[in-house]
Amino acid sequence: MWDIIRLTAARIAEKIAAGELTAVEVTEAHLARIEATDEKVHAFLHVDREGALAQARAVDAQRGRGEKLGPLAGVPLALKDAFTTVGIPTTCGSKVLEGWIPPYDATLTRKLKEAGVVILGKTNMDEFAMGSSTENSAYGPTGNPWDLNRVPGGSGGGSAAALAAFQAPLAVGTDTGGSIRQPAALTGTVGVKPTYGGVSRYGLIAYSSSLDQGGPCARTVLDTALLHEVIAGHDPLDSTSIDVPVPPVVEAARSGSVEGMRVGIVKQFAGEGYQDGVILRFEESVELLKELGAEIVELDCPSFDLAMAAYYLIAPSEASSNLARFDAMRYGLRVGDDTALSAQEVTALTREAGFGPEVKRRIILGTYALSSGYYDAYYGSAQKVRTLIMRDFDRAFAEVDVIVSPTMPTTAFPIGERVDDPLAMYLADLCTIPTNLAGNSAMSLPCGLAPEDGLPVGLQIIAPATKDDRLYRVGAAVEAAFVRRWGRPLLDEAPSLG
Ligand code: GLN
Repeated sequence: MWDIIRLTAARIAEKIAAGELTAVEVTEAHLARIEATDEKVHAFLHVDREGALAQARAVDAQRGRGEKLGPLAGVPLALKDAFTTVGIPTTCGSKVLEGWIPPYDATLTRKLKEAGVVILGKTNMDEFAMGSSTENSAYGPTGNPWDLNRVPGGSGGGSAAALAAFQAPLAVGTDTGGSIRQPAALTGTVGVKPTYGGVSRYGLIAYSSSLDQGGPCARTVLDTALLHEVIAGHDPLDSTSIDVPVPPVVEAARSGSVEGMRVGIVKQFAGEGYQDGVILRFEESVELLKELGAEIVELDCPSFDLAMAAYYLIAPSEASSNLARFDAMRYGLRVGDDTALSAQEVTALTREAGFGPEVKRRIILGTYALSSGYYDAYYGSAQKVRTLIMRDFDRAFAEVDVIVSPTMPTTAFPIGERVDDPLAMYLADLCTIPTNLAGNSAMSLPCGLAPEDGLPVGLQIIAPATKDDRLYRVGAAVEAAFVRRWGRPLLDEAPSLG
């Protein structure tokens, strides 16, 4: 089992295509790993053993018939429970959707199936993707494989933990304010938030529709690129899907280089609240970029200081509207049905019982920010800040090809430390939020362990909209340089979990 689960997705696909491994063997090895470790990690909310094996058998049969296999055929994947999967429970981490079995597949799910990717199951997440630690899941927290008493980040902690625990070589997350990149940083894995509209949102349960973006997660830059190519592309079922060619991400990941590139460092992504080890590893990464031939440019983006405040008005506003659909009348939980209560009372009781405290907090905040008399002062002002952030990015990208920063101000914090302090939790996304507000693309990849606690640190790379390939070009160059320096991939240092 061990030699199969340590392989990259690219290697697994090659070995399956060459007949050195079958998709069923690969799937069984990962299912066995999940069985052996997930009681401790709790990355999965639902494991679809039968479905996964059936998909694997189909890939093996396809190969047996001599058909050409896609670049990730037979490779197992952990899917965030925010995407609908026909016939498989989809909860979005909420009690309000407990037991719901979607009648349709998200476009992303369909694309994975068509590519022969084996979906192992659905991963744990903060309820409705609201959070930075996966502690807001209605089904209990996920542990960080580096230290099970610490959070794996959020909201997509389950997907990132599954990668770091070697339960799956590929995963999918969603990123509204950092939920792909931030868990990647805390688990020593790679995660990409594609350009807004680059990956279809059809069948992605909506949190904040103008910010939500599904994206690829893996242990290497190349694997992330291979998955990116499978899930991206225009979708007529999503009105915000962009109709442009998918950026050449795989080619970029294979040819990684920063020679002659201009790399920006933003003044606002530093200062109080950043852990020493994070700053240290970030500064080393900047030195490395110089050594690799990049020119470093210092940038000032003053509006980024307002990004957090704008985000926490815009995201809850959209959430308050999106979550109005959970009214107990159509699907999901229904409380008080057996009494003589009115429909309105049943809705109220259901929402009271079905939503957790963070979701309620955001619905109340959003409803308030959108209410007449306050709309202009709160929501309207936040939208103006959003425009300023876009302009700061435009100015920055007139001078540089990409921007780099730490992904997250600290390493993984202990489970329980920030649950009762929403503001401290919100600060986890300081560096990731501006990208979502502007709609451009960004990656997090590991850049070492913080000396003070031995936990992974993430390097964030930000590129302009539709230029996602630059993330992979720079990411692959940095990753290769780190492997040369360390003599091995970072995750080889992760605890084995027995
Ligand atoms: N932590 C942020 C929030 O709670 C971002 C979450 C996300 O990207 N889904 O809203």
